[in-house]
Amino acid sequence: MRRLPIFFVLDVSESMAGDPHAQLQRAMESIVAQLRQDPSALETVYISVIAFAGKVGTVVPMVDLMSFYAPRLPLGGGTALGEALDELMTRIEIDVKKTSASQRGDWEPVVYLLTDGRPTDRYEAAVRRWRQHFSSRAHLIAVTLGQSADTQVLKQLTDDVVSLDDGSGEELSRFARWVTASVSAQSQALDAGKSAPGISLAKAGDVGISLVKEGDPAPVDDQVVVFTGRCHRNRKPYLLKYSAVTLPGGLGSAASQGIYGLEGGYPLEEEYFEWSSQSSTNASVNSDQLEGVPPCPHCGAMTSFALCQCGKLMCCNGPGKQTCPWCQTPVAFGKGGGNSGFNVGRGQG
Ligand SMILES: [Zn+2]
Ligand SMILES: [Zn+2]
Repeated sequence: MRRLPIFFVLDVSESMAGDPHAQLQRAMESIVAQLRQDPSALETVYISVIAFAGKVGTVVPMVDLMSFYAPRLPLGGGTALGEALDELMTRIEIDVKKTSASQRGDWEPVVYLLTDGRPTDRYEAAVRRWRQHFSSRAHLIAVTLGQSADTQVLKQLTDDVVSLDDGSGEELSRFARWVTASVSAQSQALDAGKSAPGISLAKAGDVGISLVKEGDPAPVDDQVVVFTGRCHRNRKPYLLKYSAVTLPGGLGSAASQGIYGLEGGYPLEEEYFEWSSQSSTNASVNSDQLEGVPPCPHCGAMTSFALCQCGKLMCCNGPGKQTCPWCQTPVAFGKGGGNSGFNVGRGQG
């Protein structure tokens, strides 16, 4: 039996924190549950999952549909697209059997690359290598989520760039239905002995997924800003996510700084730092640009936006002394204040 390898290369950068991350998790579970209903898919489909944020990892090495379980997806800072492509190419070399005189190889692998941002690493060499050595033996479909995805870079990789964006909040469940239908159709065609038709994008429009064309609007910058803090009680990390209410204006004056509204505060695991790139950006946002401060996602302290001299954020439950969970220095918090805005380093998204 010739196998049909499906690679999912999933962006788990911090701009995905909250709903999109949970929905992506559910989408993967749904794709597998649905495909298992299909006898052809059960016989042919093999799945591998690569996750990328600032760091990259294969979270599920290629496995048959029955043995596959949807992994708990990590979250990290950064969007290392170049590294993700390198990992993908390595996995294709290792996992996909080539046809030779002695064996029939696998069917052409299909890659779903899903991203909501722009690369934060050097991706050019990896894109070149993909085009030269892999684009003719694998079908890569780039899928964008939200308006900040860099379609220009993706267009260099493949002609098949689609956008999930319709503002409905149902983007990822539609992604799941579309992937399930496409992969199912492909495996049935291969099972029936037809010549490999390839994954068709013709029907994508039917489920509200649009093909990104040349000349479509350029991606929007700086839609999301995120901050990491630590709980002063249990020292666990959390993430605060804000999205643009008004974007920085084109006048270039200080008054044209954007305003960001709170989306939510989310607990993190230490694993977050393992998936984040070390290089931090110099960009910073003034606290005056932020609207809304959530309580600590871990201990419920009334603010998760207290600043230590070390420049890091922690939670705080009012005036008094506490120890910074980052640098272990005692910090005294006074009453009120907060009128003078301070600058905090922002994540890379
Ligand atoms: Zn706390
Ligand atoms: Zn500190």
